[in-house]
Amino acid sequence: MIEVKSFTFNDYQENTYLAISDNKCIIIDPGNYYHEENDAIKKYIDEKSLEPQFILITHAHIDHVLGVDFLSKEYSLDIYIPSSEKEIYNNIPSYAPIFGMSNYKHNNNIKLIEYGNDIVFGNIKIKTLFLPGHSPGHLGYYFEREMICFSGDVLFKNSIGRTDLPGGDFDTLISSIKNSLFRLDKDVIIYPGHGLSTTINDEMNNNPFLQ
Ligand SMILES: [Zn+2]
Repeated sequence: MIEVKSFTFNDYQENTYLAISDNKCIIIDPGNYYHEENDAIKKYIDEKSLEPQFILITHAHIDHVLGVDFLSKEYSLDIYIPSSEKEIYNNIPSYAPIFGMSNYKHNNNIKLIEYGNDIVFGNIKIKTLFLPGHSPGHLGYYFEREMICFSGDVLFKNSIGRTDLPGGDFDTLISSIKNSLFRLDKDVIIYPGHGLSTTINDEMNNNPFLQ
């Protein structure tokens, strides 16, 4: 059994997720930035006596990694970043202050995930999906047996990710959605980087960008 807890953090209203199994959890795209956001996620983890195992990043835009340094130090966690997002990650300190995020702390102690390598979380297998278009090395994390997918900024409820940032490409994004996400089971629940969760079926039928 997997339980998903979501938080919405930072000025970009980014979704930070905990995937919880028994008393263990993994943290996906921690966007906590302000003190009260750090406190909120820490309080939840500690009050539930959860043991965080590691941090997974879908793509290295600043709003998805603002909480990486705090949480990795607080709980001694490894940070997994898609290998082809490394350059984008390493560029963050150069633009964080311009984006008003002068308290951003960069953590260089990262591990790289290659597309195609499964990730193990207890007895749960997490498949990686290669979903470029919003960001060139973007990965989705698909819990096949649990039928849930953390898909970052590729597919949103009734919308799609923007493609005007460095390395973005509209046709590539549409292809990622149609050729990867839409080939998953229709009942798979999508947990996106912004906004409400949805299902593959709902987006196939209702998403105005994909008809
Ligand atoms: Zn993004």
